Amino acid sequence: MFAKTVSPKITNAAILLSFMVGFGEVSAEEVDRGLRGSKPNIIVIFCDDLGYGDLGCYGHPTIKTPQLDRMAAEGMKLTQFYSAAPVCTPSRAALMTGRLPVRNGMCSNKRRVLFPNSKGGLPVGEVTIAEQLKSVGYATACVGKWHLGHHKQFLPTSHGFDSYFGIPYSNDMDRINDAPKGRESFQNPQVKYWNVPLMRDEAIIERPADQTTITKRYTKEAIQFIEKNSSSPYFLYLAHSMPHVPLFRSDDFKGTSRRGLYGDVIEEIDWSVGQVLDAVRKSPEAKNTIVFFTSDNGPWLIFNEQGGSAGLLRDGKGSTWEGGMREPTIAWWPGVISANKVSTELASTMDIFATASVLAGVEMPADREMDSHDLLPVLSGGKGLRDTMFFYRGYKLMAVRQGPWKMHLMTQNAYGQNTPITPEVPELYHLDHDPSEKHNLNKSNAEILQRLRKTVDKHLSTVVSVVSELEK
Ligand code: MG
Repeated sequence: MFAKTVSPKITNAAILLSFMVGFGEVSAEEVDRGLRGSKPNIIVIFCDDLGYGDLGCYGHPTIKTPQLDRMAAEGMKLTQFYSAAPVCTPSRAALMTGRLPVRNGMCSNKRRVLFPNSKGGLPVGEVTIAEQLKSVGYATACVGKWHLGHHKQFLPTSHGFDSYFGIPYSNDMDRINDAPKGRESFQNPQVKYWNVPLMRDEAIIERPADQTTITKRYTKEAIQFIEKNSSSPYFLYLAHSMPHVPLFRSDDFKGTSRRGLYGDVIEEIDWSVGQVLDAVRKSPEAKNTIVFFTSDNGPWLIFNEQGGSAGLLRDGKGSTWEGGMREPTIAWWPGVISANKVSTELASTMDIFATASVLAGVEMPADREMDSHDLLPVLSGGKGLRDTMFFYRGYKLMAVRQGPWKMHLMTQNAYGQNTPITPEVPELYHLDHDPSEKHNLNKSNAEILQRLRKTVDKHLSTVVSVVSELEK
């Protein structure tokens, strides 16, 4: 319905490739491939609650991530890449639709995510990346955690995915009454404590899901899908349930990491990334596949050693301070994205929608507000199209970033602070100089505050109020 094909000749992919051949980085044969492949395979590997500081290539001193380090060495590391929300459901809705959750009701000030007793989900009228790509012949698969509604009309198979294998909501839901109370069940987690279902398409095939083998099984599913679709373009959304607590890993990763259980879990995800990339490397379409690796929100710090680290960023999951939404992100497409690049451009998970649409030659939905910018200029090493990022907590616009400046209209820690503080003069941080948001510069930058306020007003004029799906 929105899927009028545009000529590959005018896609940014073609522009990107011709730009790169000009610099001698890509052979003519590869440009041909790229142009023929104006429909490249697209893989998004999405973690749950992974912190900015949790990977070797993002500076963690004891967690070993050789596969992700290699992915970054062969591709591009993005250091200012944001999810669209600091918690699961809104963040995932935004990734899938290229729109802020406030536009489609996938957020709430009361219930921050969907729960097993929720009745709502991603509205059927939303256009997902999977639907975009399916409309031009892509095979589509969702493997892993969904969390955009577990009733039939909201499942991946109702939102453009040919198949689904995974858990429909978080792995800490459906806790049984007999489980140890409070944090104790997380200290020494056992599969039986959480009666989370594992689904294939629309059917529950295992309950409780055996979470000790789940990363391995997601990996196997992903590889089978890649191998099966060697002759048609595909979109694979591989959304790991980990490292969201309760933490589980397979026997092969027990005690492998000096970082303890959390490190074991990350090292298994790292192994998984290596397996998936190897499957791509071996496939006939090895040079026509773009892979993104990122996470839905920052680390869950209240779980102490079982939560990750946001590195030098402030706070974590649940908060609109940087640690809640800035994600460790890698983009990989050997032969098209040059090796060993680091981009400091502003970008977001929401931008994957526009990027995928451009690569596949599908027009963007024109009947709604979009919050998605094509990333190809960034991936070619240039300047990005995004200059502004909005930070929402539920329906509340907490902060805005434009260029290096971030203005906090309201501040609220992830946990332990029930209501936000609205300072008389919004707090202002220069994130290029001060990524940790330590030095409030609002006293000496009235003009910048004024400009950011105008940006906020303009943005808010595009937001219409919609009913929350999370409160249904
Ligand atoms: Mg999460």
